[in-house]
Amino acid sequence: MSSYQKEQLDTLNMVQRHLEAISKQEKQRLLSQISDYLTFRNTVDAFLGEHFENICTLKCYQSKVSACCSREGIITFFADVVVNVLVSEKSETKALSEALIKPNTGFKCIYLDIHGCMWRVKPIICEMFLCDTAEKAVFSEKSPARKVWQQIKQREKQYRWPDQPVLFDELETYFIEAGFRSPLMYLHNSPGLLRIKKLAKTNF
Ligand code: SF4
Repeated sequence: MSSYQKEQLDTLNMVQRHLEAISKQEKQRLLSQISDYLTFRNTVDAFLGEHFENICTLKCYQSKVSACCSREGIITFFADVVVNVLVSEKSETKALSEALIKPNTGFKCIYLDIHGCMWRVKPIICEMFLCDTAEKAVFSEKSPARKVWQQIKQREKQYRWPDQPVLFDELETYFIEAGFRSPLMYLHNSPGLLRIKKLAKTNF
């Protein structure tokens, strides 16, 4: 198992164990905490479906495969894992664990199977990725869709870019306070993101 797979698996198991151990009410509270983000993700899905379904092949959208799926180790935030486990069936998270313990033999993402991406709510980096070809084809200079996409990208920052209090940071903090640590907690580990947080605090 590669170190990437191990990090992913350890994080997935940790999140799953904790979410199974908390009360129904606490889980409900977490689901309410992410509800606005889930609405945002539905908005992005609807936008991509409307504007990119025709241009992207079956391979890219109908099967929920984005063009970055050919990469071996996609960046996943800790909060991506939390959100996905919160909304997934047990069988879905079990399938992710099983994929992670198998050797990755191809030049593709470990989470890609014959039906497409195995995540119910795939990582935000994957969701927001548009390949150049598709982008050029859909977004002409003055296309209204380009403007909407820019607005979506701004909105995405409100969940994970720590120049303000953001959901992704809050979810990491929640788990840290419960005694957990993961290398995927980039909002607490990444020097670049920590700098942004620090700068934001000094500006307020
Ligand atoms: S996590 Fe899913 S969407 Fe992202 S690269 Fe892997 S298979 Fe593709």
